[in-house]
Amino acid sequence: MSSLRFQALKEASNRVPVKFEETDRKSTIFGSNVFNDKAMKQFLTSDAFKGVRDAVQHGTKIDRKLADYIAMGMKEWALAKGVTHYTHWFQPLTGTTAEKHDAFFETSYDGSDPVEKFGGAQLVQQEPDASSFPNGGIRNTFEARGYTAWDPTSPAFIFGTTLCIPTVFISYTGEALDYKTPLLRALTAMDDAATEVCKYFDKNVKKVTATLGWEQEYFLIDRSLANSRPDLMMTGRTLLGHTSAKGQQLDDHYFGSIPTRALMYMRDLEQECMLLGIPVKTRHNEVAPNQFELAPIFEETNLAVDHNCLLMDVMQKVGERHDLKVLFHEKPFKGVNGSGKHNNWSLATDTGVNLLSPSKTPMSNLQFLTFFINTIKAVNDYESLLRGAIATASNDHRLGANEAPPAIISVFIGAQLTKVLAELEGVTAGKLSPEEKTDLKLNVVGKIPDVLLDNTDRNRTSPFAFTGNKFEFRAVGSSANCSNSMTTLNTIVAKQLKDFKIEVDALIESKDMKKDDAIFNVLREYIKVSKKILFEGDGYSEAWEIEAGKRGLSNFKTTPEALKARASKQALDLFSEMGIMNHIEVEARYEIELEEYTKKIQIEGRVLGDLSQNHVIPTAIRYQNTLIENVKGLKEIFGADFEKIAKEQIILIKEISGHIEGINSKVHEMTEARKKANAITDAHEMALAYCDKVKPFFEEIRSHCDKLELLVDDEIWTLTKYRELLFTK
Ligand code: ADP
Ligand code: MG
Repeated sequence: MSSLRFQALKEASNRVPVKFEETDRKSTIFGSNVFNDKAMKQFLTSDAFKGVRDAVQHGTKIDRKLADYIAMGMKEWALAKGVTHYTHWFQPLTGTTAEKHDAFFETSYDGSDPVEKFGGAQLVQQEPDASSFPNGGIRNTFEARGYTAWDPTSPAFIFGTTLCIPTVFISYTGEALDYKTPLLRALTAMDDAATEVCKYFDKNVKKVTATLGWEQEYFLIDRSLANSRPDLMMTGRTLLGHTSAKGQQLDDHYFGSIPTRALMYMRDLEQECMLLGIPVKTRHNEVAPNQFELAPIFEETNLAVDHNCLLMDVMQKVGERHDLKVLFHEKPFKGVNGSGKHNNWSLATDTGVNLLSPSKTPMSNLQFLTFFINTIKAVNDYESLLRGAIATASNDHRLGANEAPPAIISVFIGAQLTKVLAELEGVTAGKLSPEEKTDLKLNVVGKIPDVLLDNTDRNRTSPFAFTGNKFEFRAVGSSANCSNSMTTLNTIVAKQLKDFKIEVDALIESKDMKKDDAIFNVLREYIKVSKKILFEGDGYSEAWEIEAGKRGLSNFKTTPEALKARASKQALDLFSEMGIMNHIEVEARYEIELEEYTKKIQIEGRVLGDLSQNHVIPTAIRYQNTLIENVKGLKEIFGADFEKIAKEQIILIKEISGHIEGINSKVHEMTEARKKANAITDAHEMALAYCDKVKPFFEEIRSHCDKLELLVDDEIWTLTKYRELLFTK
């Protein structure tokens, strides 16, 4: 009896939405569990408050004495809110967040004088015994332990009854072991490079901040149903399952009325987000059944990344209250859309200007064009590195698999800006005549805001699109930590801006050019050399693949191929020149990502072997036995005539045997391929073997299993079906 499936179905169909009522207005509770400016003003001395503000704004160090005062205030604030424990909260290279709770509670050695304690030492630095996190060979020796260090730019927060302190995670020798450290370095590099360039236009700019607004897609599946599928539980996706008769072909889910259970979940989640200071704003149904999206108001990038990591954790926890399992996998179900996490990205000055937003005056539009064109050039020069930054086993199901953006990185800018670039390309080399400059400023640069107003054609197939006042990097996977994509993007643009400044200054000095002549000249050359990256057409078409090939753009459809760029000479040079990561750090990451790929495919292969042999085949045989009994009975009754009467049953019996044979032989071949792959010592070769020799069996095995699902009596099928997983509300 397929009891787990039917028990799960019964539980799922008996569910009633878990009621949720907001306790207060969002604006009232926003950030109330965050040690933000308001809390700091209340709980810190003015010196301590200023210390934190300076650290956030100017990166100044906080000394031990000051840290003691800050810790004291933080502790009082937390205790007043019923908090019992604290933890350093960090992002190791596992892809999830890490925490290790310690109680504030302490006693003296003989158990007397119980008291709540928390000092600067505990706030600033900890040494979690975190030797089991991936380190890519950085921490091989016993003395090279890792430690966590406070990141004051991301405020501490309370989750449940624990005070969480965002930290970096580094080895004793200083190498980054996490996602946050390189991101912070990249953001600093961006600030330095962009601020210098801004000074061409406005001497008052002192700081440039990279901004990020992610859009998180996810599936909500009833918890019992999800639990009844070992593949979902272990790999985050279904490895088997015939597509349901109804999928997304009617487009009836997208932007539809949100189902009550999902809506209650969202409201509950949003309240948690408000308390944690995560400024979520938008919620809606996505294209696939049971698929949804959530987006916040954009924030400074480091904070936005922390908030996305925290959100993914909170989403699962709130899901438990509603008996829902949240799926972040990029492709949990075959045949319906997968999930992504668009990274909307821009640059903002401390004077309140969005550098990627065209504005009223020609001069500020020249500034816009400067940042716009430099970004395009950066993506042009480092497209394969950007592709490598989003490569994972799960994202391979989107990129290069006829879905979502293609594996080829290109930039979409829209018809109007294409025209502007064409006009700028025609600018005279050398000094511009006063008439040409006036004409440019009035008729090209000055017209941008007007033309952009009606520039509504948005190309949904582009992996990197300009959308009016920001770029949208759409190829990022839904399960990813945005740090990888943001570290890479900000580093390549920072490097580009740094080079731009050098080139412009050189023209000003050596050719005695005016500043804007020099800028026009350099931009003109950038437009000329960056043409291959610009693409306005259909990114899914075959014609584009051919065209992109001719242009020399990379088209890596699998992770092992795409990852190579992560540790290429170009990458090593870039990250070390910009002070983001040294060679050891870059190579360690490359190693870790290859290993992660291999392990993911290995686990999927094992789970698939297990499910097909221990669930599917026994069920198929059981059904086949019923058919055999039936045929035997017919023979008893009809004698020689039975073959005609039992014809269909006999065909079915043979068909079932054929699929069983297919599964067994393919699982056997897959296992052999795995053994061979496991014997390979080079990490890249091993990942390639898993990709090219092991993974191709998945589809073959699946196809036999899915056909059996259609043949076998529904009553005895053990695995919960697609229609049940996807359409239970
Ligand atoms: P859509 O792209 O779906 O039309 P929006 O344009 O409203 O939606 O914005 C989508 C996301 O872009 C939101 O998360 C928003 O916060 C973010 N966003 C808007 N402006 C910026 C910006 N200047 N920098 C970074 N992200 C931004
Ligand atoms: Mg968008």
